[in-house]
Amino acid sequence: MLLLIPGPVQTRPEVRAAMAQDIAPWDRDFQAVYARIRERILAVAGGTPGEHATLPLQGAGHFVTEAAIRTFVAPGAKLLIPMNGAYAQRMARLAREAGRVVVELPLTDTRGAVAEDILPALDADPSIGSVAMVFNETGSGIVNDAGGIGDALRARGTRLILDAVSAFGVLPFRLDQHPECDALVFTSGKCLEGMPGIGFAVARIDRADACAGQAGSWSLDLSDVLVHARRSGWGSIRFTPPVQAIAAFDVALDLYDAEGGQPARFARYRANADALYDGLAAIGLRPYLEKRHQGPVIVTIHQPADPRFDLMTFVEALKHRGVLISNFYNTAAPTLRIGAIGAITTDDIRRAVAAIGATLEDMLAKAA
Ligand SMILES: *Cc1c(COP(=O)(O)O)cnc(C)c1O
Repeated sequence: MLLLIPGPVQTRPEVRAAMAQDIAPWDRDFQAVYARIRERILAVAGGTPGEHATLPLQGAGHFVTEAAIRTFVAPGAKLLIPMNGAYAQRMARLAREAGRVVVELPLTDTRGAVAEDILPALDADPSIGSVAMVFNETGSGIVNDAGGIGDALRARGTRLILDAVSAFGVLPFRLDQHPECDALVFTSGKCLEGMPGIGFAVARIDRADACAGQAGSWSLDLSDVLVHARRSGWGSIRFTPPVQAIAAFDVALDLYDAEGGQPARFARYRANADALYDGLAAIGLRPYLEKRHQGPVIVTIHQPADPRFDLMTFVEALKHRGVLISNFYNTAAPTLRIGAIGAITTDDIRRAVAAIGATLEDMLAKAA
């Protein structure tokens, strides 16, 4: 099966094979693997040793996003969220339910946000201390300008929390150039092509210390994750970790390095997304985004206007041809949501486009 979804992604057999073992989390051999992963991640994030730390949190991406907001934004404090997609909406909801005051900035989901979109809202309310934003919006496929927005925030003393879950390892953003960023968060199962199961925040140590005690959650507290690492060692993880997923992640990082790191992986995903975009347009489907706003991670395409088209039936029929895409969409208009990430190449994409074309032809002809 070819998995074309934005996580968990298609993985390489070497990564999956690394899971076929029993592991004790406190075993010295495993602790060395884990401590090494922390350093490798810090390097991918462009962090500075001693200034930034890799802080793990078991579970899905939203757990670590919520932990970052709880840790770095005080209860009752205001944070601005540029609202241009489904993942921004989720972030606003989890921040609100954590008792933080969310200022929503409504924007379209058809182009990425830039600094000029954000600054008037910050000027209008000087009590906003932080911006929390999604880097690659996995709802429609747009990319927000995290670098430019970060620069603008730094100039005015506003803090940044970056949801880089579907961007980390691919879209460039170096923490050593962005001291305004308290934390960027991501998971093992997206652009680094590991198994799902654990999230990470790469965070400023001074801020994690200064913010200690305000998370209001024992489980979702990154300051406490840092305290634990200092007390028990950098190979130790607070709470029982998904050890097999971590072992697999180390192999996934080997493959990432062997491929050529961020520039190479970005180039492969960009080529995948372009082949998908152009291929689907060539068989008569209408892209949701203008090409210049199309990011490298997922491609969204308008569903055929034909009343005989049904998303669930289509996704199931396509699966029988060996290709699995999302069976839901979260754009403003009905779309097909297709991932361009994972251990896949443009050959896979071409095969998928052919399968999509054949499935549509079948479906629309049969119902006629
Ligand atoms: C995948 C993703 C998440 C996390 O999703 P989970 O289902 O909680 O792992 C968060 N933000 C973005 C932008 C994502 O793409």
